[in-house]
Amino acid sequence: MQYRFEFRPYQQRFLKPLTTSHGSWDVREGIILRLTDETGKIGWGEIAPISWFGSETLEQALEFCHELPEEITEETIFSIPDELPACQFGFESAWETNRQDAKNAKFFCYSGLLPAREAALEAYEKLWNEGYRTFKWKIGVYPIAKELEIFELLTQTLPASAKLRLDANGGLSYEEANLWLRTCDNIKADDELSLQIEFIEQPLSVAQFEAMLELSHDYKTAIALDESVATLNQLARCFKQGWRGIFVIKPGIVGSPSRLRQFCQQHKIDAVFSSVFETAIGRQAALQLAAELSQGNRAVGFGVNHWFAQEETLPEALWKKL
Ligand code: MG
Repeated sequence: MQYRFEFRPYQQRFLKPLTTSHGSWDVREGIILRLTDETGKIGWGEIAPISWFGSETLEQALEFCHELPEEITEETIFSIPDELPACQFGFESAWETNRQDAKNAKFFCYSGLLPAREAALEAYEKLWNEGYRTFKWKIGVYPIAKELEIFELLTQTLPASAKLRLDANGGLSYEEANLWLRTCDNIKADDELSLQIEFIEQPLSVAQFEAMLELSHDYKTAIALDESVATLNQLARCFKQGWRGIFVIKPGIVGSPSRLRQFCQQHKIDAVFSSVFETAIGRQAALQLAAELSQGNRAVGFGVNHWFAQEETLPEALWKKL
């Protein structure tokens, strides 16, 4: 089958810059793909790289798109190199949406992303009223003493039935990671009725895998790897090296959906699926994968709409605006 290939870059500004331990992020940039088959049927895909997380850069993705001919085949789509994982996702999901009619949507619980620092204390309530029960808070942004203070307030403020995820984005030192894990363990020990700390995400940098493996055995509080498992090859390597904790999978940058399916079905890993701040096009494809591959009932990390101004949800409407 031949497909006519078109692409358009997009930019989406965050309502407020997103603060993580990697710094501040103002504008989400990506590429929307359109594949039209010989019968005129359209498939949509999205390339939404995060190069500081381990994917290709936007420039590399754009270059790849520019170099492709106007007509492409399945062979083109399935031979995209591993160095372009966000492209693998974008093209393969466009190919899939062209081939299949959307399957029945599965009902998900969403995890809502709170702003860093004390802004979280006020921001949670609106999300709670919208139905969010799982929240994520970025840590490793402020000095730890100050963050632990805010954290204590947060645990007292959030309703007891809420779940909280802490995401350090690899920004803690070994001592700080121990302190956070001990603090979270103590919350559990102290009060049966207090909220649940679901896990700490990527406490240490990617280079410190062994230390995180050790910490995952030392504490009751679960650890999830995120930056360490940005791409499929990294995911497979961490699994091979013994990681049996939680894996955060960002379908938008992890690479080929078909190979991801294979891996998850073979190893039955405990996975949390998460957004890369993509548009509705990439999100649709990512949630489709989450529906197929989620083992437990963990909330998906796609509760990020409130970080953008109102967005187009229909692919055609989005395409026309670009
Ligand atoms: Mg994370």
